[in-house]
Amino acid sequence: MKPKTVQMGENSMEPKTVQMGENSMELNTALTGENSMEFNTALTGGNSMEHNALQMGENFMELKTARRMSYIKASEIREILKVTEKPEVISFAGGLPAPELFPIEEIKRANQIVLEEDGRKALQYSTTEGYPPLRQWIAERMNKRLGTTFDSDNILITHGSQQALDLSGKVFLDEGDTVLCESPTYLAAISAFRAYGCRFAEIPTNANGMIMPELEKQIQEHQNAKLIYIIPDFQNPTGRTWNLESRRRLAEISAKYNIAVIEDNPYGELRFEGEILPSTKSFDKLGNILCTGTFSKVFCPGYRIGWIAGEKKIIRKHVLVKQGVDLQCNTIAQMEISKYLQLYDIDKHIEKIRETYKHRRDIAVDMMSRVFPEEVNFTRPEGGLFTWVELPSDINARDVLEKCLEKNVAFVPGGSFFPNGGRENTFRINFSNMPEDRIVEGLTRIGGILCDYF
Ligand code: PMP
Repeated sequence: MKPKTVQMGENSMEPKTVQMGENSMELNTALTGENSMEFNTALTGGNSMEHNALQMGENFMELKTARRMSYIKASEIREILKVTEKPEVISFAGGLPAPELFPIEEIKRANQIVLEEDGRKALQYSTTEGYPPLRQWIAERMNKRLGTTFDSDNILITHGSQQALDLSGKVFLDEGDTVLCESPTYLAAISAFRAYGCRFAEIPTNANGMIMPELEKQIQEHQNAKLIYIIPDFQNPTGRTWNLESRRRLAEISAKYNIAVIEDNPYGELRFEGEILPSTKSFDKLGNILCTGTFSKVFCPGYRIGWIAGEKKIIRKHVLVKQGVDLQCNTIAQMEISKYLQLYDIDKHIEKIRETYKHRRDIAVDMMSRVFPEEVNFTRPEGGLFTWVELPSDINARDVLEKCLEKNVAFVPGGSFFPNGGRENTFRINFSNMPEDRIVEGLTRIGGILCDYF
């Protein structure tokens, strides 16, 4: 079956999606009603658990699993995070926000008011699309900051922006399709897309973002190029930000080749200096670009509330696949965030986060320039959570990490941010999560170990 093309105005062509005709999606929608949930529950109930328990004995045989399981690897960061849970470890590994900035008292009040005013609604099932006032707030905020023209129907609430990436993988990718991404790129996006059997074409980047002639060249080389994944603001892992021209050009190239784009932007609100730049979406004339966002970095990641924004027809496809995944996001979490936004000034809160992270960035960059050997290069991000370190090509960052762990300090080696491997001479430093004295101490330890290589 050919992918369907739905007209969105005269010149519009829809981004390519997987081969799920409208009818089959309607069928899926119908199956996610109340009865089908009972049916699912019955299937995973007591009997199946007993069945699993029996198989755990001596006669256990490997179950046959889907082919996609061979594409899925454990996340290196999640593995390192297990080690860094020990309190003596100074960890630059995770992408964790500073927990002392979580607005706990304000959240307690928002929670209490939501339960008192509208407890029954807050604890009930709700729509897949998400809580309307929250979707409205997100649309207005994006329009104000990023030059978009969304309304609430352009927004789907997701379990973190991570879920948005997975849903997009399901909507767009067939086995053998190619995702074009920055080199390096966000590790868990690689995992999310890889589960759908795609390949990756890595596009080189410089201080201005993806190198556009390279992007165009690789689109021409990969006939099955289906999706471009980008993080233009304070990128994970490099901390780099695209300039205006790269944003405009990306939109033009996406239109020229009719390829969907996911612009992932979890860090854009955390700018320490310089001017806010518009989203690539603001240059999108055909409706090919989708934007993801999240409350994880400006509020708290524990709520797991994020979103995907885009043209209504393509958002609708995301809604349909989300129905099959989890029906909807947590109702009370969405209502609490919405209540918090109504009661408090989130800009003031974000300002506090920015000030703290800027200070930590300054300390980290200053320390690295003092204690790292001069052969080592690193970025000075204008915002976000990360700086990126490049060692001379003959030094392996995993080897450095091993020595650092002996001294109770951790970071993430850069190799796994390259979907096709290589570049083992790189690593990522997170500067948002540790207090200042530990940043100084930890980087001093890493610097000492690096000096032994020269
Ligand atoms: N995209 C990028 C680039 C990220 O760095 C992260 C998390 N660190 C996410 C998406 C997912 O964040 P969340 O699911 O918490 O919104």
